[in-house]
Amino acid sequence: MENILVLTHADESGSSLSKASLEAVTAGKELAAQLSATLTIGIIASDAAAAANSLATAGARLLAVSGEAFAQARYASDAAAVEALCRAAQPTIVLAPGTSRFTRVAAGVAHRLGGFIDTHITALGGMDKVEASRWFYRQRVEAVISRNVRPWFLLLDAGTHAVFAGASGAAQVEQVAVQLPALRTTVSGFRAPQQGQQTIRPDAKMLFVAGAGWTKKQPDGQIHVGEAGELILGFLRATGASLGSSKSLVDQGGEGEPVLPFLTHMNQIGQTGSTPRHAKGLSTCCHGEEPHVVGWRFIGDRRAISLDPNCGWTRGKADVVYVADAFPVMAKVNALLEAAKK
Ligand SMILES: Cc1cc2nc3c(=O)[nH]c(=O)nc-3n(C[C@H](O)[C@H](O)[C@H](O)COP(=O)(O)OP(=O)(O)OC[C@H]3O[C@@H](n4cnc5c(N)ncnc54)[C@H](O)[C@@H]3O)c2cc1C
Repeated sequence: MENILVLTHADESGSSLSKASLEAVTAGKELAAQLSATLTIGIIASDAAAAANSLATAGARLLAVSGEAFAQARYASDAAAVEALCRAAQPTIVLAPGTSRFTRVAAGVAHRLGGFIDTHITALGGMDKVEASRWFYRQRVEAVISRNVRPWFLLLDAGTHAVFAGASGAAQVEQVAVQLPALRTTVSGFRAPQQGQQTIRPDAKMLFVAGAGWTKKQPDGQIHVGEAGELILGFLRATGASLGSSKSLVDQGGEGEPVLPFLTHMNQIGQTGSTPRHAKGLSTCCHGEEPHVVGWRFIGDRRAISLDPNCGWTRGKADVVYVADAFPVMAKVNALLEAAKK
């Protein structure tokens, strides 16, 4: 019989579990029910007892590693914590959210335990054996993997499972002691873009994509990059949407062409960019070419605004295409959003 361990860690507060961790809990519960397997949840947090309260009704054995050393992500302490949780739970299957924190240490710990790891798992299935799905070749090919090696570590992609939301209460937690190695890394703090400047928002409901059209000559023969920037940022401010870009638009900076200063290659969606998950997506001034659209694989409702009635979006890639000038359309949308706020 499989013995499943779900690894979780706290968010920045140190006392509640991260969203991705709660998604992994749902994945663990579903898999345990499917396989009639035992379920253990391991928690890593500075205050793991408080973080465990959200798992009071999860119906799992709860193990925790607590203390200041685990407040921050650091390879040595996180790897030691994960290893200690695994040695205490003796799992055959280890599920963990594919957060930067666990992605960094999971392969190392799998090696220490003589196990195997697969990453970017999007679905788990199988009745008598575990089957894990992941996408290859930039989300074009889906593979279903099963392995005999145990323990088998599976890192889950964010947004693939519902967040576990059981009633919170006083949970019974078993503390696991960790033998920390010498810590050479001191975490002195975080440096992150100020709130409002950060345009990549993985948890947003909507993805807004800007294409190269925003910086091209418009019907009046002029370019309007300043206006384009204001319209895009205005929409992001009003909706909290995440900002994506086509490759062409972010490449322009290096070619000395007019650029939108808030866009970097981190915003690029597509074959050589990212494949985010959002319920809705709105593409503007973008042609909808295949190397870009392949990054839209996991966007639920896709809409596009393009001047070109023959663009890639109109050929079955978007659910709705508005053949229109994005400048007045977005100005009107922003005005409606502003009015709705008042
Ligand atoms: C190996 C490889 C990998 C690639 N990887 C990626 C990738 O990861 N991501 C990516 O995006 N691309 C990628 N590309 C490039 C991709 O093929 C396209 O060139 C690119 O996505 C096109 O970007 P675009 O639509 O923004 O620009 P363009 O092709 O220049 O299209 C601009 C569009 O804007 C429209 N437009 C202009 N003004 C307006 C207006 N006022 N209102 C409405 N519409 C307007 C035009 O009609 C046009 O359709 C890759 C290419 C290769 C060969």
